[in-house]
Amino acid sequence: MPKPNPRHPNFPIPGGPELRAKGWRQEALLRLLENVLAVGEDPDNLVVYAALGKAARNWAAHKGIVEALATMEEDQTLLIQSGKPVGLVRTHAKAPLVIMANCNIVGQWAKAEYFYELERKGLICWGGLTAGAWQYIGSQGVIQGTYEIFMRIAEKRFGGDLAGRFILTAGLGGMGGAQPLAGRMAGAAILCIDIDPERAKKRKEIGYLDEIASNLDAALAAIAEATKGKRALSVGLVGNAADIYPEIVRRGIVPDIVTDQTSAHDLVYGYVPKGMSLETVRSLRKDGQGQLMAASRASIVDHVQAMLDFQQAGSEVFDNGNLIRTQARQGGVENAFDIPIFTEAYLRPLFARAIGPFRWMALSGEESDIARIDDLLIEMFPDNRIITNWVRLARDNIPFEGLPARIAWLGHGERTALARRVNELVASGEIKGSIAFSRDHLDAGAMAHPNIMTERMKDGSDAIADWPLLDAMMLCSSMADLVVVHSGGGGYAGYMTSCGVTVVADGTRQADERLDHALTNDTALGVIRYADAGYEEALDEVAKKDVPYIRPS
Ligand code: NAD
Repeated sequence: MPKPNPRHPNFPIPGGPELRAKGWRQEALLRLLENVLAVGEDPDNLVVYAALGKAARNWAAHKGIVEALATMEEDQTLLIQSGKPVGLVRTHAKAPLVIMANCNIVGQWAKAEYFYELERKGLICWGGLTAGAWQYIGSQGVIQGTYEIFMRIAEKRFGGDLAGRFILTAGLGGMGGAQPLAGRMAGAAILCIDIDPERAKKRKEIGYLDEIASNLDAALAAIAEATKGKRALSVGLVGNAADIYPEIVRRGIVPDIVTDQTSAHDLVYGYVPKGMSLETVRSLRKDGQGQLMAASRASIVDHVQAMLDFQQAGSEVFDNGNLIRTQARQGGVENAFDIPIFTEAYLRPLFARAIGPFRWMALSGEESDIARIDDLLIEMFPDNRIITNWVRLARDNIPFEGLPARIAWLGHGERTALARRVNELVASGEIKGSIAFSRDHLDAGAMAHPNIMTERMKDGSDAIADWPLLDAMMLCSSMADLVVVHSGGGGYAGYMTSCGVTVVADGTRQADERLDHALTNDTALGVIRYADAGYEEALDEVAKKDVPYIRPS
């Protein structure tokens, strides 16, 4: 039975043992599509997260997808072009059920303005990364990444501990909404600015944000008290980051860590310029896009200038993956890239071992299925400190949104071992329903994003998109259930290409084979990508785990 969804009553949370489709694989993908809308930011408009990241092109396309998933046989493959179903072809039972190509625009044309034109004509849509691929699980999807970044900074700068430290950030949207909880889990006092009161309210309601301050003075007082008492706390504040960051600089307050996760990548549908109400911005999105882009960029210049000022004053400042430095540099801030990107600064050694944001969703809707897998993680990886620490923290702190789900950063071999064991438990009935395994697109072999994921690669291969394309083709040959190639839309147009994958553990022998091939090959390619770029960690992984990398002779 689906569960009611108080926040979006028209989008119930799927679950229960009854199948509407002809098999669990098809039913799983249908439930995942329902789930991204149930936990999305603006499901009435099919928007899941990242400003304009959509689950389907439009409602007619959505209807077509739902009908196809409900009626298709196991030996068919549904073709989706930028959120619209365009064909249902006969393949075979070991082929993917769904393959997608979303928002891929030929190089010289891949610009934000051209994307918006195609979008207006209804020819394309931006699928975010996990929105269009039906893999989004709410703010939890990015939370361990954010937490691990904070902990790497703690190790680098603060003796391994963020108690008594002040983190300043902005953006309480679909992904940015993970920041207050990640900050609190890391032991810090974190202040999160968002211009939209509804976003702040939502994060508080779902348990990701402790309190909302009435003004900047009250917010800073709460933070000061928490840092003095070394108490973990998250405080939200409604306001424009481009006003508030410079004001905090002016007051001479120096946070320990500063970042930002507003939708700065999209100057039209994401970022809100200072001095403008949300109503004005919404109306300019329809008929004043040029004016809005200019105003957003001007505000981002002030916003990033304040981040640079904090850096000068001694804060640890980083770009959290939203192109804010790129936008600022285009607005004239020549040294915007003095701010490092989080991937290169903190997480690359993990990615080089293909350790990244793996995730699973309990299609039964039962939280006990996730609890069983939490136990399994600790049983299977008792010596993996990142995992054991994370599972204990996650189960105590992370409220579920939509289908119960968990994210955990696992690497080559580990993902396959976990998924195959879970498949056995599904078969034995110890886990009540099928489990879908997926990962973020921001994963070792899966993404080319030269200002985010692949910035300053050792061998200079930052902008080469062959890796995610190879990944997708390989996953189609490796029995994955859903495979997708996405490129950037809106402000990300021309900036990225990524590959997504989902595999369903339905307790069958075929699922075991699918999980084995797809998950093993996916992380193998991740290791190979970094080994080929010359990363020691990846070469070590090749040697230790017998990864089939062909070394240049
Ligand atoms: P979202 O569109 O759901 O939310 C963005 C939030 O920013 C909104 O709540 C909006 O009100 C707020 N905002 C916009 N302009 C503002 C301003 N000037 N001052 C204060 N608040 C402002 O987006 P999201 O899903 O939370 O993603 C945020 C950004 O992070 C995007 O650029 C996205 O692509 C990026 N992202 C990064 C990662 C990563 O791995 N680091 C992962 C996912 C998304």
